Amino acid sequence: MIPEFDHPTFRLAVAQFDRVAEAMNLETNLRERLKKPQRSLLVALPIRMDDGHVRVFQGYRVQHDSARGPSKGGLRYHQDVTLGEVAALAMWMTWKTALAGLPYGGAKGGIQVDPHTLSLAELERLTRRYAAEIFPLIGPDKDIPATDIGTNQQVMAWFMDTYSQQVGFSVPGAVTGKPLSIGGSLGREEATGRGVVNVTIEALRHKKIDIEETSVVIQGFGNVGSHTAKIFNDAGARVIGISDVRGGIFNPKGLPIAEIYQRHRLGVPLQDMNVGDRLTNDELLALECTVLIPAALSEQITGDNAERLRCRILAEAANGPTTLEADAILDDRDVFIIPDILANSGGVIVSYFEWVQDVQRFFWNESDIRQRLQEIITAAFHRTLHFAEEKKTTMRMAALMNGIDQVAQAHTARGLYP
Ligand code: GLU
Repeated sequence: MIPEFDHPTFRLAVAQFDRVAEAMNLETNLRERLKKPQRSLLVALPIRMDDGHVRVFQGYRVQHDSARGPSKGGLRYHQDVTLGEVAALAMWMTWKTALAGLPYGGAKGGIQVDPHTLSLAELERLTRRYAAEIFPLIGPDKDIPATDIGTNQQVMAWFMDTYSQQVGFSVPGAVTGKPLSIGGSLGREEATGRGVVNVTIEALRHKKIDIEETSVVIQGFGNVGSHTAKIFNDAGARVIGISDVRGGIFNPKGLPIAEIYQRHRLGVPLQDMNVGDRLTNDELLALECTVLIPAALSEQITGDNAERLRCRILAEAANGPTTLEADAILDDRDVFIIPDILANSGGVIVSYFEWVQDVQRFFWNESDIRQRLQEIITAAFHRTLHFAEEKKTTMRMAALMNGIDQVAQAHTARGLYP
């Protein structure tokens, strides 16, 4: 492994890949190719801060694979972003888009910054400089960024504008997760959460559990966690525990999600809301519930805490939330896992719809979006479940095998250049 990539998250992604490649007897040449990201760009981002001094931030864009189409994946603004983490997330995007059957490869970008410490003007300058620096790599037919942790519609709007300024005309399809006014899609913001609920409902049906009998615990109340909570609550489940970076709250009777959602948007921390008992992140993960949904950062469920989980279904809304050690423990304990590349694929599925609408200049209504999302993600769920049952393997192995097989087929068909 190139030392620059060496990071726990990249080691996890590669270890998963090795295991799957072995199980599916993937050709050695392809194994070597697919383990290494195709293209990685490191960019230094000098930004004039509001007080006049210049600070240089580190940015990345990694394109893991583009055999099946333009590479696709979000932009993460977080203080712990490294090249290795971005490379792992890019690899997962390749398997995710392939599993969903989208005509894309996988990519990811990021800047090592805590966006909450910047003013709006600094955030705009940082985003524009980043977009200008990675400009040679991106475009609607090359590589299409989107939102991820720490980025939002406004960041995507600045990104789209900077790209468009460089080429001299408006290119809405250069990025997804944009505001509606510049070619964004209805339903994109809630899409990851809606997809999580869609597949979890399928898992509940499979396990013959009624939605009214379902209790849900969610770690993380950002874009994904908050929409998942809201949509689950509307669907009739009881959301009993949620957390944000400061800690969690718990109410066995169910939390008032609509009210919490509104107040959290105004900046009130969950623990200051007086709607349930406070608890730590560790206690939250160990709550007894039907469905546990990690919707924050990677490697949250580990060999140390997997034994304490008391859920029947683990729906991975985050990317890479479960380590290999935890995977083995949960498997032994018969926890039904909806793996990340399946559970959270609603985001990139609706990103695909957004890009299709932008390229065609023809826009769909929200019920079309929801229905097509549900069709694609539910079909991916049943393909994965069917494969797992047929091959007597786990849902994670089945999902990865399915995705990796699509990518391998594309490489085989195209051959090796030159
Ligand atoms: N950041 C999201 C993910 O991890 C969405 C990526 C996209 O829409 O391109 O899947």
